[in-house]
Amino acid sequence: MTRPPDETPHTLAEMDEQLVHCRACPRLVAWREQVARDKRAAFRDETYWGRPVPGFGPADAALLIVGLAPAAHGGNRTGRMFTGDRAGDFLYAAMYDAGLASQPTATHRGDGLVLRGTRITAPVHCAPPANRPTTVERDTCRHWLDLELKLLTPTLRSVIVLGGFGWQALLPVLADAGWAIPRPRPRFGHGAHVELPGASPDRAPLHLFGCYHVSQQNTFTGRLTRSMLADVLISAAETAGLRS
Ligand code: SF4
Repeated sequence: MTRPPDETPHTLAEMDEQLVHCRACPRLVAWREQVARDKRAAFRDETYWGRPVPGFGPADAALLIVGLAPAAHGGNRTGRMFTGDRAGDFLYAAMYDAGLASQPTATHRGDGLVLRGTRITAPVHCAPPANRPTTVERDTCRHWLDLELKLLTPTLRSVIVLGGFGWQALLPVLADAGWAIPRPRPRFGHGAHVELPGASPDRAPLHLFGCYHVSQQNTFTGRLTRSMLADVLISAAETAGLRS
């Protein structure tokens, strides 16, 4: 498929099945497949995933974590969000401490990791060169984020956005999915917390949290510490009803 499909999926499983065949962004398709062919020396005996990486976590999640895009030798290698790289090590260890993950490590699909009430996704589902998708690629991939939000809406109560790119990508999607976005638009910042009322009476409010991205650039420099991430995870889990 050279563009997102016309058939609307009715479940997240159906959506994910369509997503992994998407080839709508020529630059990203070429990059993800080149990385999968060339490989990093440490992983030369592995078969890279080399395709769009679907969201990970239950279809009835109350909490959604939105990152940026899969890493070339992480998600693009293993086929699961934040799996097989340092960013994922940092995130899943904190999620385990917060009671949101069954184990603190994520090495490969089939490693037994189960998320509790939480799904992880990204506004761009293919690994981009230098971890930098273009705005055109972000807008092209919005098709999938729109679908995912709509399918999660019945149970979704909180969202954590990791970084400003995801924040900018998500706000219009939330508006289209039925939540009221204040004017002026809330700004991204670590620790930002905004309650978005439903645009209709039957729509539950949504708690939106900002958190610095778990990239090594942030975690190695101390810009994002384990306790900073834990604070956001715990607040979001509490507002989502996953902790008391
Ligand atoms: Fe398709 Fe998104 Fe990958 Fe672009 S980034 S090819 S829209 S899955």
